[in-house]
Amino acid sequence: MPKNITRSLDLETPPDAALQAKTMLVYERLVALHGERPLKPRREPMYELISTMLSHRTTEQNEATAYAEMRRRFGTWEAVRDAPLNELIDAIKVSNFPEVKAPNIQATLSRIITERGEADIEFLRDIPTEEALEWLTSLPGVGIKTATLVLLFCFHKPVLPVDTHVHRVSQRVGLIGPKVNPTAAHPLLLNLLPADPYILFNFHVSLLRHGQKICLWKDPRCEKCPLTDICNWYLENRAPKTPSN
Ligand code: SF4
Repeated sequence: MPKNITRSLDLETPPDAALQAKTMLVYERLVALHGERPLKPRREPMYELISTMLSHRTTEQNEATAYAEMRRRFGTWEAVRDAPLNELIDAIKVSNFPEVKAPNIQATLSRIITERGEADIEFLRDIPTEEALEWLTSLPGVGIKTATLVLLFCFHKPVLPVDTHVHRVSQRVGLIGPKVNPTAAHPLLLNLLPADPYILFNFHVSLLRHGQKICLWKDPRCEKCPLTDICNWYLENRAPKTPSN
């Protein structure tokens, strides 16, 4: 299991109160901009797990297309597990790295079906968050982002998925340092937020939308952003310079 991933594990440095306040300010402004969403499962847990495995470095549209084609061709999870590898790779080819994802999906399904007797991970709802994270991240190809997303979205556990958009926006604003990678960002950002699944969910969704629509990777649209006065990147790179004496 990744270290220091849940709130109950100690971080060496206590969260800075000013940084916590800044994080909540970012949360409030971005939720106001992108809208608040109810925390309710969007898809059943096995769907969420396997679809999120397909989502790595892939657009939402291609993730959905790959998932639909896989289900259309093979029907059941057992059939996906037992499919000839080249056929599964072909079914999910619109997602990136299908040759990596296909064997991981089959190995993950095999583990789940062998351990649980069926393709069902509903048991995660009733076990402690740390235990659920440990189990999920022990599955082939399941990293901390996928595991936290399944636990937050499906079971409302107090964890925070950090995808590429959440990571980039957090880094530019200055909630995490410039050298913090996405895996390391999980416990750091979690520690800056209340242990409230509703807030964690809306923080994730609003930073994700912000990264997709405004804080673009190549050319952030700062003129449309409500964070310019508190964004480190903006203040260092785009803020009008005041003339020096
Ligand atoms: S001010 Fe610019 S760089 Fe900062 S979060 Fe907004 S869009 Fe991104």
